[in-house]
Amino acid sequence: MDIHTFADLLGHYPYRYLDSAQVQNIKSIRPDQEYVQLRGILMQIFEEGSGFKRRLKATLADQTGQMELVWFQGIPWIKKNLIPNKAYTVFGKLSVFNGVYSITHPEIEPIENHTQKEIPALQPVYSTTEKLRSKGLTNRAFAKLLQALMEKLTPEDLPEIIPPNILQQYGLIGRFDAMVNIHFPQSETHRQLAERRLKWEELLLTQLRIARLKTGHRKQAGWVFEKVGEQFNAFFSDHLPFDLTGAQKRVLKEIRQDTQTGVQMNRLIQGDVGSGKTMVALMSMLLALDNGFQACLMAPTEILAQQHVQSFRELLKPLHIPVALLTGSVKGKEKKQILEGLQKGLIPFVIGTHALVEDTVRFHNLGLAIIDEQHRFGVTQRAKLWQKNQRPPHILVMTATPIPRTLAMTVYGDLDVSVIDELPPGRKPVQTIHRSENYRPKVMQFIRHEIDKGRQVYIVYPLIDESDKLAYESLNANYEQVKAWFPDHKYNIGIVHGRQPQEERERNMQRFIAGEAHILVATTVIEVGVNVPNATVMVVESAERFGLSQLHQLRGRVGRGADKSYCILLTGYELSQESRRRMSIMSQTTDGFVIAEEDLKMRGPGDLYGTRQSGALHFKIADIIHDVAIMEETKTAAQALLAADPGMEKAMHQPLRVALQQTKSGLVQSWSKIS
Ligand code: ADP
Ligand code: MG
Repeated sequence: MDIHTFADLLGHYPYRYLDSAQVQNIKSIRPDQEYVQLRGILMQIFEEGSGFKRRLKATLADQTGQMELVWFQGIPWIKKNLIPNKAYTVFGKLSVFNGVYSITHPEIEPIENHTQKEIPALQPVYSTTEKLRSKGLTNRAFAKLLQALMEKLTPEDLPEIIPPNILQQYGLIGRFDAMVNIHFPQSETHRQLAERRLKWEELLLTQLRIARLKTGHRKQAGWVFEKVGEQFNAFFSDHLPFDLTGAQKRVLKEIRQDTQTGVQMNRLIQGDVGSGKTMVALMSMLLALDNGFQACLMAPTEILAQQHVQSFRELLKPLHIPVALLTGSVKGKEKKQILEGLQKGLIPFVIGTHALVEDTVRFHNLGLAIIDEQHRFGVTQRAKLWQKNQRPPHILVMTATPIPRTLAMTVYGDLDVSVIDELPPGRKPVQTIHRSENYRPKVMQFIRHEIDKGRQVYIVYPLIDESDKLAYESLNANYEQVKAWFPDHKYNIGIVHGRQPQEERERNMQRFIAGEAHILVATTVIEVGVNVPNATVMVVESAERFGLSQLHQLRGRVGRGADKSYCILLTGYELSQESRRRMSIMSQTTDGFVIAEEDLKMRGPGDLYGTRQSGALHFKIADIIHDVAIMEETKTAAQALLAADPGMEKAMHQPLRVALQQTKSGLVQSWSKIS
């Protein structure tokens, strides 16, 4: 469990507390409850099924009713340790199926025979694993270890690190007190104060770290784009296909300001799908060009890179500005030519995929690097682009997935943020409809209508692993089925997926973009960025298998033109509560921000936005979803502290500085190893 020292053990906070007051009756359970805590007798314990479907079930009964407990894993060990007719406290996530309640993999503790009085109101519950438990390291064993440790601990072992003025201003309790009360709270109020204090400490350290990183950037010299030049102006006045939205203009102005200061720009542009980020990218690149610099645009997929190149070439044709394409499939002589052109400065603009960060790619003078759809890229890749010059280029990161506020303050905390909060005029919100699969005939009929009106349609299938042969076969079967729905020769149906040879995929995509194919059967390769304004229907098959952000991205492929668009989510008939909720959120809102926040809530931060490797989300106690308020307090406090004492040299800031250098959590690590 990554516990090596006593400090680590102290930092193994309870993840919840057994509150003897909060036990409920089975009869009083409501279907909308997320968690329940019960007390009852285990009646029967029995196994069902075999192989994959093997499970252990037990019936829990109290005075008011019965319900089922279910285990899929660790069955032999659990079975050995459950004693029929014994009383247990049970806690877990409630599932409801056909009106019947059950708890899968509950936490379960025998009720010992001590009197009520001996049990403290709040008992800590520690996480452990099935494996550790089988060796005796149960939750209760952890509690005992911590109790023993606490008895030896004195305030000197845990000196205060937050300066007294901050403690006072924000009403925080002392460090030692907090540690005692997080493990063995005297009362709920004590527990809350302890939790607040420890979260505060963790987030303060995070915010100090970010603030110092940011000042580090601020010192990084950047190229100066002195002027708004000829090409930019010519494009702006003569070749823009539409008026820029107010938001696009504002963001361009922000970029213009950033690039004049002599400091490297690190800016994140957040704009919902279809808000017109590409045009901002193109015009920023013109700004670089007019000042004598090269610029590159990095896209997450080959298809997207190609599409960008195509539209850039089209738009820039009258200005005779060449745009190169560099992806993994550009090879041999062509690649050599591009690499040479870039190195010699003959090619001003290059658009590509990951291939752009390869070591062989050298620029003559790269002034601006743009990363489209950032969440597909890791933080490391972003950093790699920096190293393309002696002096790093200005960096512009564009993302369609709105970043919840907490993430903006942590993972992206070192970037300045611009928001395109306005869609181009005339867009109608996409109407989203959730139907079960037996509506498919009607959906197909509807599709036919739309095509007859001259529109185009996407049908997307989930393919988790594009290299999986079976999945590939089933996709092909689906493709044949779609064809069977449209036997008439006037309907052209294309297919794109990750297993196709590059050329074939490209050809099929082009046919759809050109309007020659009416229906595009696809996997999520089209999830990001693809722009076909004439497409008005997005059908997502097995929609329950997609996450919210993915669904929002897919939906963003339609509603890009003037016609009313539809997103149809087809799912199985029986849905888990969570899937049902996802479908209902999608049907109710098109606001990317709401969806991103919900997604974070439902999935947890996990691997969202490729941030796993950044480490910024690994909090011990703070919660990136719910602790926005504390995050903001600590941000303010960190800024004030650094404004008053940039080097953190004052005596009262010493302990914090040491903590920053020592560990992520700020706990002292020099204590002896547990052996
Ligand atoms: P995203 O922000 O999702 O990358 P795009 O840049 O692909 O969005 O733009 C979506 C569509 O809107 C494109 O067809 C683009 O040409 C169009 N568009 C962009 N800006 C404007 C604008 N100011 N007025 C009208 N249409 C615009
Ligand atoms: Mg885009």
